[in-house]
Amino acid sequence: MAAHLTTTGEAIHPPLADPVIIWYRGNARDLPWRHPGTSPWAVLVSEVMLQQTPVARVLPVWQSWLRRWPSPAALAADSCGEAIRMWGKLGYPRRALRLHATAVIITDRHGAAVPSDLGSLQALPGVGAYTARAVAAFAFGQRHAVVDTNVRRFVARAVLGQAAAAAPAAARDLALVESLVPEAPARAAIFSVAAMELGALVCTARAPACTRCPIRGHCAWQLAGRPARTGPVRPAQRFAGTDRQVRGLLLAVLRGSPVAVSAGALAAAWADAGQRERALRTLMSDGLVVVLPDGRYALPGH
Ligand code: SF4
Repeated sequence: MAAHLTTTGEAIHPPLADPVIIWYRGNARDLPWRHPGTSPWAVLVSEVMLQQTPVARVLPVWQSWLRRWPSPAALAADSCGEAIRMWGKLGYPRRALRLHATAVIITDRHGAAVPSDLGSLQALPGVGAYTARAVAAFAFGQRHAVVDTNVRRFVARAVLGQAAAAAPAAARDLALVESLVPEAPARAAIFSVAAMELGALVCTARAPACTRCPIRGHCAWQLAGRPARTGPVRPAQRFAGTDRQVRGLLLAVLRGSPVAVSAGALAAAWADAGQRERALRTLMSDGLVVVLPDGRYALPGH
């Protein structure tokens, strides 16, 4: 499925959409945020949670979150500390703060309804180019190129014939995926989620399951003889012993307590005082933890 060039040098790609959409209809995971009738707010919450956390961990938190705060107005009426508490162990908890800030803005400036246009979506805290396009496509059925890591890898192999995607380049990635997206908005939205799903389940980073791939007969990487990856391999990120782990442990103490906690309670979570203090300072500067006048620590809005 290598690109051809028009007489003006413009790249054209044979259509991927049909086989990928047919595959999606028969093979996609049954994820609740994809069900018809899911509110734009529920879609937005799912996309923010999925930014850096796998589906299996997101599922229970997303369900609890939506039960408690079924609308932006419901979350906006609660404290940001409760949002941090509900975030649980999803990681990167500043997303909870930003989601709360987003709920407040939607409630105050958008009539309590998630906006549907890209500009307004992208102006919300924690909503970048990917999330804005995903919400516009999946919640509102619009035609956009939706480019996540899975799509970048799938397109790099299927269209460019590369073993792995090059370093992200927003404009180039958007233009390439845009050239593959069907014109009709409804089909465009299905293709976008289908390409993401194919990248997540079949065209995986370590071991693409090409025998199960609906486009294997046309994949540029296959046709090129599966050339090896070039460029540096990103080292696996260490977690144990990092400040990130310590931040998570300290925040877990605060999330698990209905009242403010003492410095001693935090010390019990991590013995290294220097690293603990450093982690605590960054939690406070991020707005995830506050210190009370009596010296105890709490989630904000406590
Ligand atoms: S044939 Fe293999 S490498 Fe090509 S798109 Fe499908 S899963 Fe990915």
